[in-house]
Amino acid sequence: PAGFDGQHITVAGLGVSGISAARALAGLGAHVTVVDGGDGDTQRAAARELEAAGITVRLGDGETFPEGTDLVVTSPGWKPDSPLFTAAAAAGVDVVGDVEIAWRLRETVAGQPPAAWLAVTGTNGKTTTVRMLASILAAEGLHTTAVGNIGTPIIDVVLGQGKDGARPYDVLAVELSSYQLHWAPSLRAHSAVVLNLAPDHLDWHGSMEAYAADKGRIYEGNTVACVYNAADKATEDLVREADVEEGCRAIGFTLGTPGPSQLGVVEGLLVDRAFVENRQQQAQELAEVSDIAPGSGTPAPHNIANALAAAALARAFGVRPAAVRDGLRAFHPEAHRIQHVAELDGVTYIDDSKATNTHATEASLAAYEHIVWIAGGLAKGATFDELVQKSAARLRGVVLIGADRALIREALVRHAPDVPVVDLGRTDTGAMSEAVREATRLAEPGDTVLLAPACASMDMFVNYNKRGEAFADAVGELTARDH
Ligand code: ADP
Repeated sequence: PAGFDGQHITVAGLGVSGISAARALAGLGAHVTVVDGGDGDTQRAAARELEAAGITVRLGDGETFPEGTDLVVTSPGWKPDSPLFTAAAAAGVDVVGDVEIAWRLRETVAGQPPAAWLAVTGTNGKTTTVRMLASILAAEGLHTTAVGNIGTPIIDVVLGQGKDGARPYDVLAVELSSYQLHWAPSLRAHSAVVLNLAPDHLDWHGSMEAYAADKGRIYEGNTVACVYNAADKATEDLVREADVEEGCRAIGFTLGTPGPSQLGVVEGLLVDRAFVENRQQQAQELAEVSDIAPGSGTPAPHNIANALAAAALARAFGVRPAAVRDGLRAFHPEAHRIQHVAELDGVTYIDDSKATNTHATEASLAAYEHIVWIAGGLAKGATFDELVQKSAARLRGVVLIGADRALIREALVRHAPDVPVVDLGRTDTGAMSEAVREATRLAEPGDTVLLAPACASMDMFVNYNKRGEAFADAVGELTARDH
């Protein structure tokens, strides 16, 4: 179908998306070679399985460009200036990612118009927003799923739909990282949103401009709506710069009163002034703020923003107001995102392990009055001055862990010299128990102990889930010991 039959395709990276791409492309008749610089036990096991499916695997060399390659499919971890890609460019060979492959394959379900893509990117809130969106679309009775960095790889979702007589998807709620957008040149979404734009992954993209440009790709060729954050001018600028289909509208979302062509909040109600049913109508009521994940407490401002963004995409797809309300009511937040872990002796323990950059951490530090903050990990090229400046007044104390903790400590010395800081000087997994004990010592009744590291986790943990679990376990140890 999408012309992969007989092609010689090199897949860079033997990870989840690489394996998914290799299998799918081999299944479509391509001659696939997977290359990976690693040569460990897990790679060998994966290689054996692929080889059994007729795929060539080369371990221990991720740099040499295989002769005769027609197309390179990359994995998210690979930097754009990797030698393999430089060699591909020199040979005039395209490099694309799994999203591009999925996009080219979307018409392969026979006899069905392909599912529309409602696409979501941004520095923070992507997963939350696509899950809210999928919940809203499902409440409308549409057949849909959330696709993203976690769960089923996007190629498998696209190829798997309609299999075994299942109903093909009407629409997909697609989370896209800046990496995926970088490598998806022909993607054209029905509608898309950039939720927010703050420095992250600058080590990968090289500069804030390059990062923003990759994020902005999500608007290219949109047919119905480009949704932007009215409180984040950079997102609006990206809409203005995008080349879209005729008739495609710019739609804003705001936590304040919405202007024309915006969704916003009025007296505790989410309202829509962009997609009103008739011209006489000023605004369309969608839901109450308290309809957002009821049972998980008052929604944090950034989750109201995520809900508005999801609502905007759903409304662009023609979803009724009642389905927006029902979908938001049915939504449950995921673990490790401002998750309430326990309350002990008047101190509340919150796990926001998913706060892997300063922008996310800023949002969670803004949500509490008196905080003992547990932070540190891999900084990915970030600086911490602004974050510390904005949050200093709320900090009761800070406990630092992880590889790049000195960067945070120095920012604290500069902007919050009176706040007590405990630098554990540890990067081992067991450090979390000590961090929680130290934080508890610094906390007073009524305070919040907040794990919001502002850093990636891979220096100490397999991923942010494991880091969050270690935090919860450490809090559990307190109970076992003291109560
Ligand atoms: P992503 O998929 O973009 O990483 P998540 O929904 O998993 O986003 O949330 C990541 C982190 O960012 C969490 O710590 C969460 O509390 C915080 N967050 C979520 N939405 C926003 C937002 N709109 N603005 C700022 N921070 C947010």
